[in-house]
Amino acid sequence: MLQTMSCAARAPGRSAAGRLASAIVQRTQRRHAASSALSAPSTSSSSSSSSSSSSNGGQSPPPPPPAAASSRARAFLEIERKSTAYRPASDRVQDWGEIFPAGDSTQQPEATAAVRAEQASRCMDCGTPFCQTHTGCPIHNLIPEFNSLAADGEWKRAWESLRSTNNFPEFTSRVCPAPCEGACVAGLVPGDEPITIKNTEQAIVDRAWEEGWVRANPPKTRTGLRVVVIGSGPAGLAAADELNQMGHLVRVHEREDTVGGLLQYGIPNMKLDKRRLAQRVSLLEQEGVEFHTNSAVGEPGGADAHALRASADAVVIAVGSTVPRDLEATAGREGPGVHFAMEYLTKSQKALRQASKEGVARGGRGLASSAWGGEDLDAGGKHVVVIGGGDTGTDCIGTSLRQDCKSMLNLEIVQRPPDERDAAANPWPAWPRIFRVDYGHAEAAHVFGADPREFGASVLEFVREEGGGGEGGGQGKLKALKIVSVDEGFEPIEGTEREVPCDLALLAMGFVHPERQLVDAFSLETTRQTDNIDAPYDGAGAYKTNVDGVFAAGDCRRGQSLVVWAINEGRNVATAVHQSFKDRNMLRSKGDTQKMSSSLETWMGGSFFSP
Ligand SMILES: Cc1cc2nc3c(=O)[nH]c(=O)nc-3n(C[C@H](O)[C@H](O)[C@H](O)COP(=O)(O)OP(=O)(O)OC[C@H]3O[C@@H](n4cnc5c(N)ncnc54)[C@H](O)[C@@H]3O)c2cc1C
Ligand code: SF4
Repeated sequence: MLQTMSCAARAPGRSAAGRLASAIVQRTQRRHAASSALSAPSTSSSSSSSSSSSSNGGQSPPPPPPAAASSRARAFLEIERKSTAYRPASDRVQDWGEIFPAGDSTQQPEATAAVRAEQASRCMDCGTPFCQTHTGCPIHNLIPEFNSLAADGEWKRAWESLRSTNNFPEFTSRVCPAPCEGACVAGLVPGDEPITIKNTEQAIVDRAWEEGWVRANPPKTRTGLRVVVIGSGPAGLAAADELNQMGHLVRVHEREDTVGGLLQYGIPNMKLDKRRLAQRVSLLEQEGVEFHTNSAVGEPGGADAHALRASADAVVIAVGSTVPRDLEATAGREGPGVHFAMEYLTKSQKALRQASKEGVARGGRGLASSAWGGEDLDAGGKHVVVIGGGDTGTDCIGTSLRQDCKSMLNLEIVQRPPDERDAAANPWPAWPRIFRVDYGHAEAAHVFGADPREFGASVLEFVREEGGGGEGGGQGKLKALKIVSVDEGFEPIEGTEREVPCDLALLAMGFVHPERQLVDAFSLETTRQTDNIDAPYDGAGAYKTNVDGVFAAGDCRRGQSLVVWAINEGRNVATAVHQSFKDRNMLRSKGDTQKMSSSLETWMGGSFFSP
């Protein structure tokens, strides 16, 4: 690594990243020199003692630094990055358990606390930790701080640091793509490797749950102000948690039969064991948050939007971005065999949930074929083509494999990304847009012998069997896809048309905006460009919609994003709601809130809200 850094230092300075690289090299050299001095043998003690006495006015010299401090200063130079590997593809594809190895007790030596502590010690404690700025961690986790505490074996204090910024680290440490690591200074110079921040986070939070440090902590006082949160994804849950801790009375309405949004129905069990979600929701309930499931606000037969608004002092809308991108203009689109990824994933996860009350069935394949309302959807024995990449596409691949699909093809319209970051077009500390092999790709390669992705490919037609009963025979059974290679501008390349077998096509091309029904029920304005709920990003009006007392957060406001961004939005919208109460002098005096709290205690177990 030193060699690489030295080369970078000699290269003529050009970009900001290049200049920063040089600065780091110099700093590295200074550190190197300092740490060499720290670890210098005792023969130098007389000179160090004399220099100490000159700098502290002849007092006795300070005690020598502990060995750990010396090795810590050089750790990022001397210790190689070791991330915790997923369970082997051959093993994990046989079940629905998490792809991550479980704690210290498993076959994965990289998961042990000792290795994670050593890896945490690689953190350079940078003057400007880009990992925790907005290009890194969206919730600004105190990364150098928790790394340092973990390296010292101070796991409980590391947990306290982590929980101060992150409501749900047990989720992010599993599903977050870790933009923090893309912005880590230790990964700035090509060939160097960032600190394993996400693995440290997981080691801290898993230990916190195991040790019983994560406990219900109901607020000591109540304000008596009521907030309704609509939607129980990570944005709604984070908002509910924060508002509840501020002392407000919070009720969450969720359309689905279970709480969690895409954490529950979307992100599959192998990425997030649903028992973790249940554990967290139970904690929120013990802290006083009310959950109403099967409650679709603003939809026929569901809760009335205006009545809800009238029953509360503020409403937070966190309903996600749920309208999927479609291929409606493509020939043969209508008819059996073509489904949106979310329909497939939701049905698969509901079937799993039904099969195992705990939400996870280790060792079970094809369980998702058990019936769950509507059309049963199962990839077992089918030629599956997943159209679109990203997390959703990968999750469709992983789920289909566990249901024993016959073949797997994943079409990506974009070209294959480069193996290394393009320093000019995609400079550090932005998220590196590089070729990655996610869990589902590795599993498909294990099962079928090759990566399932075909880049630069688009669908021309869903080819159906004749005589399906629909007009023009267009509704027959799906039997193939006619596809074509495309160039960088997505233009078809002549002569590349071909057919691939397909019984089940899954559309995983992202989401465009939230559904209209709830938006219309509240008479909310949406942005002209995106059709997301219009609520400013900054200033006094941040998170406020055009309707008085109604706020918006998460994917329905910012567009399709990440769990960690949803948590960020949930935290911020809670602050905005609280500030609006302050601005309107709605918060009572301390004496009043204490009286209020004691009378509200008798309400626990019932509902804080009238009707
Ligand atoms: C398949 C898939 C996999 C993903 N994987 C990852 C990943 O690995 N890592 C990552 O960081 N991000 C991932 N994402 C993105 C991430 O899940 C979302 O960005 C995040 O969940 C958004 O949170 P949210 O709270 O805004 O909305 P959501 O999680 O979408 O929650 C919205 C909730 O509102 C409810 N709702 C909607 N309308 C109503 C109504 N009228 N009344 C009551 N309730 C309503 C919905 O049922 C839902 O439960 C993935 C997304 C998908 C689709
Ligand atoms: S939440 Fe994501 S971005 Fe933040 S520290 Fe954890 S892994 Fe990194």
